[in-house]
Amino acid sequence: MTVKRDADVIIVGAGMAGATLGLALASGGIDCLLIDPQPFDAQLEPTFDGRACAIAFSAFRQWRVLGAGALIEPHAQRIEQILVTDGRAPGAAAASPSGVWLRFDSSEIADRNEGEPLGYLVENRRIRAGLTRAVETAGIPVLAPARVVSTQSDAASARVTLADGRVLTAPLVIGVDGRGSKVRSDTGIGVIGWGYGHVGVVATVDLEHDHGGVAYEHFLPTGPFAILPLTERRASLVWTETPEKGAALKAARPEVFEAHLRRRFGPFLGGVKVSGPRFTYPLSLQLADRMTAQRVALLGDAAHAVHPIAGQGLNLGLKDVAALAEVLVEAARLGEDLGSTAVLDRYARWRSVDNLGVALATDVFTRLFSNDNPVVRATRDAGMALVNRIGPARRLFMSEAGGAAGDLPRLLRGVPV
Ligand SMILES: Cc1cc2nc3c(=O)[nH]c(=O)nc-3n(C[C@H](O)[C@H](O)[C@H](O)COP(=O)(O)OP(=O)(O)OC[C@H]3O[C@@H](n4cnc5c(N)ncnc54)[C@H](O)[C@@H]3O)c2cc1C
Repeated sequence: MTVKRDADVIIVGAGMAGATLGLALASGGIDCLLIDPQPFDAQLEPTFDGRACAIAFSAFRQWRVLGAGALIEPHAQRIEQILVTDGRAPGAAAASPSGVWLRFDSSEIADRNEGEPLGYLVENRRIRAGLTRAVETAGIPVLAPARVVSTQSDAASARVTLADGRVLTAPLVIGVDGRGSKVRSDTGIGVIGWGYGHVGVVATVDLEHDHGGVAYEHFLPTGPFAILPLTERRASLVWTETPEKGAALKAARPEVFEAHLRRRFGPFLGGVKVSGPRFTYPLSLQLADRMTAQRVALLGDAAHAVHPIAGQGLNLGLKDVAALAEVLVEAARLGEDLGSTAVLDRYARWRSVDNLGVALATDVFTRLFSNDNPVVRATRDAGMALVNRIGPARRLFMSEAGGAAGDLPRLLRGVPV
């Protein structure tokens, strides 16, 4: 009996990871369909998502291969240096690195990555805009606005039901529907995780002086405070606070918010002026207990959502994309059933260890650097000083953070699937 199919693969969620997955599968000749409750155009508004993401150089290679790189690149700020400082007093971000600090420089790995920077800083709305145009150009069908309300599967096929009652069928459904994934809960995949009791306050600021492509991660007693360079002499701030303080900062008048900022910034980038809306995001760790179920795979935040301290969340999702696309395109060329356990196991085996490792490392890092206990502080300061003195250790960190370590899928090496 032939089973009805609306596509080879149904992708639930057309966020940054879902849209990239659509491009990657289409580039390998797989017929896919994207579904998202957000109208595609609404996602491009500055009020939709105020965040910016640090994108690893390997993840950016993938976008280049998939035709989105040239659309995103005009809005991508090269990160040439990352400066990590450990400060006791607000305003210490201003200090020249005299105390405990750690510096990563793109020139140190220039021979390995052919002049690519440590990464790129891009506003999420710019990434979404570039991906949207690339998806349209590739002719990938998008159902939006359309919400998936249930996912079911059996030995023959997987099915999603939309809020308007339509039922769509495919050999494989991929849940890229974020932290609160409905695909995940419908298929009985559990999660483990915990909250950090903090929110990330996010704002974009105009700077008086050029940032020179330097990203600052500054550890204040209240938690990390990141100043991330953006194009047009702007910076994206991610400021960790308690939920109460975060809500107050979000609601504060611009001049009050700027006064608080100046205390933490100090004078080193000149005057700062907040531009656009402010946002708060709850910070937590959440890991799916498996990445696949019968004819279903999870990808991106649906499978693993981590603290933004090391800028790895979306990068993990983009690594998932490259691995899953390679597995599925190869399976399609061999005439295999894309939703079979054998095929999905290859994806889970490839990605589970890295996802778990990065999630745990991020968790340890968060606890270590959100702690003002003198013993913990002394230990981390000693660790930072040590890494800073050892060139190979610094280069290893840069390679890991750039997503260039381990068994790299073709797209992350800049090679088509
Ligand atoms: C403050 C902050 C800073 C960060 N900075 C960085 C950084 O510097 N670098 C980095 O790599 N990561 C960073 N991250 C993490 C990054 O933002 C996330 O990992 C990324 O957005 C996840 O993308 P996604 O596509 O998997 O999920 P999402 O962005 O959550 O997208 C999910 C999509 O699924 C859709 N959807 C939801 N439910 C349904 C449904 N029922 N049916 C159909 N579609 C549905 C949604 O509308 C949405 O479009 C940061 C996170 C925070 C909070």
